[in-house]
Amino acid sequence: MADDEVGRPLWQLPTDKPFRTAEEIAREAGVTEAQVREAIHSLVRSGALMPLLAPVCTSCGQKIGEYEDPEYIPEELACPYCGQTPHFSDLDLRIIYRDTSPGS
Ligand SMILES: [Zn+2]
Repeated sequence: MADDEVGRPLWQLPTDKPFRTAEEIAREAGVTEAQVREAIHSLVRSGALMPLLAPVCTSCGQKIGEYEDPEYIPEELACPYCGQTPHFSDLDLRIIYRDTSPGS
C-alpha cells in the first residue's frame, strides 16, 4: 500500500470527536495500527503534524487543554466541563497531533 493511502485518513478527521485513536483510524481505513503509527511518525518528521500533550479529565473524560511541553501543564487544572480540579498526577495524559497545514 502506498504511503499516501496510509496517511490519507489522518487528513479527514471529523471534528465531532475529541479523540481518534490510531486503532480507530486503522479500523476505519482498513490498514494496520502499525501502518497508522508509521504514517503519523513520518508526518511529524516532515512537520505536517505537531505532537501535543493533552490532559484528560479523569472524572468526565474531556480533553482539558493542549500543551507543547509537559512543563507548561499547571499542577492543578480546573475542568471546564465537570468542575473537578484533578491534580496533575491524576490526569490521563494523551498525545495528540495537530494538523499544521494552512487553513486547519
Ligand atoms: Zn471533567
